[in-house]
Amino acid sequence: MSGHVIRLIPEDNYKLIPAPHIIQNLRSLLDDCSIFCDIHVFDSVQFIDQGGNFEYVACPFCSEILDVAWWQEEMSRSFTHNFEDLSIHMPCCNLRTDLNRLKYHLPAGFARFTIESKRNEKELTDLIPEMEGHLGFKLRVVKARY
Ligand SMILES: [Zn+2]
Repeated sequence: MSGHVIRLIPEDNYKLIPAPHIIQNLRSLLDDCSIFCDIHVFDSVQFIDQGGNFEYVACPFCSEILDVAWWQEEMSRSFTHNFEDLSIHMPCCNLRTDLNRLKYHLPAGFARFTIESKRNEKELTDLIPEMEGHLGFKLRVVKARY
């Protein structure tokens, strides 16, 4: 089956799960706006990929486009520890960062909490400022094509 999925994840804190009452408020907000979507909380950190929208990954410091084989190796290494530690050492400019801060084009990221919709992309993105107000943190938009 092919299709488009939009997922919203915390911009910075990939381990963050909002408190149950905040998730409840968010659910009510989405239901009130008749937005068809699912809120997921995962047991461990997941890579929230962009599927067929993957073009490249670049360094957040020097914008160098990264070797995909290098990135995949770092992903595999981190995955063996359930993505608990995403820290990496950039081969291009020798600085330290983490896999969640790389510049994914199109965007992707890591999360234990996602808001996901297959139908209401525009309605969901229009509501981002209000959702961020409820959640108290910025959201990253991951658009996937499979
Ligand atoms: Zn660099």
